[in-house]
Amino acid sequence: MNEPLNIDWATLPFGYLKTDYNVRSYFKDGKWSDIEVSDSENINIHMAATSLHYGQEIFEGLKAFRGVDGKIRIFRLHENAQRMRESAMGLCMEPIPVELFEEMVVKVVKLNERFIPPYGTGASLYIRPFEIGTSASVGVRKASEYLFMVLVTPVGPYFKTGFGLTNICIFREYDRVAPKGTGRWKVGGNYAAALAAGERAHAMGYSAVLFLDPKEKKYLDECGPANFFAIKDGVYITPESESILPSITNKSFMQLAKDMGIKVEQRHITVEELAEVQEAAACGTAAVASPIGEVDDIDTGHKYVIATDGKPGPVTTALYKKLRAIQYGEEPDVHGWCTIVE
Ligand SMILES: *Cc1c(COP(=O)(O)O)cnc(C)c1O
Repeated sequence: MNEPLNIDWATLPFGYLKTDYNVRSYFKDGKWSDIEVSDSENINIHMAATSLHYGQEIFEGLKAFRGVDGKIRIFRLHENAQRMRESAMGLCMEPIPVELFEEMVVKVVKLNERFIPPYGTGASLYIRPFEIGTSASVGVRKASEYLFMVLVTPVGPYFKTGFGLTNICIFREYDRVAPKGTGRWKVGGNYAAALAAGERAHAMGYSAVLFLDPKEKKYLDECGPANFFAIKDGVYITPESESILPSITNKSFMQLAKDMGIKVEQRHITVEELAEVQEAAACGTAAVASPIGEVDDIDTGHKYVIATDGKPGPVTTALYKKLRAIQYGEEPDVHGWCTIVE
């Protein structure tokens, strides 16, 4: 198990690479089990488990970083623990106690310490907690038993060729979630529902789909796996919607923007307002911020060119750099966002 690692951290993709251990806890007879440490990549569940048939699956995504001082930092652990409880309640699943979530994430990071990429490579350790309904049910009902587990995998820098622009599109014939549906929770099924639109967008050369609000199809919602924000006349604007996931990266940017004296507005943003913004980006744990060059509204044929000079804008760049500096311990963590793993 301790053969030396031969990983080229700088060229690591954003994908799965086997690590040493994962951690698991089972909910049964009204309580969560002691934490189990496993070196197996497989799980053994009943073929009639509710997760397989009725979609009882939720997840989280966060990262651990090796800092400039050599310390390991987990970014916004507590926020992720709380959001996972919201997701569980949304799907009638057993909410994971915050303390159990935090203990398991810290434990799995420590157990796989040798997979945390060195400082300066731009890589990090991606942490994927997830919960599934495991008890058998052919009738539609919630499970009585659940498995909560956490896997980790080192991931490369999202931007291999530097912080670059990508183009995204709007498809009016697809919705990823319903108006008062599961969009506000981190649910695997939301991703399945967005795959067809995403595949079509990729085939057309776009990096993502910008979904509209599913009720009126007038306002911007979010990009499949990331929130959306824009800079309009010096103001940070981001959609207010019941059908999007409250991104912790977006929440962090809103705070950093306020710290920089930038006004923040969380409100409806119409598609047409894209013509009036100077910068736009998708944001989430994976990319932090992915600046957008152009948004093409496929069904109307309208093209909104955002980055008119072909470069990421100054506000997006400043927010991106600031967040990364906090994650790598280069700048003080004044809001207490990082958990240092001792
Ligand atoms: C995970 C996710 C995001 C990004 O959230 P972060 O907490 O910033 O990683 C945005 N939208 C959806 C639908 C997501 O699942």
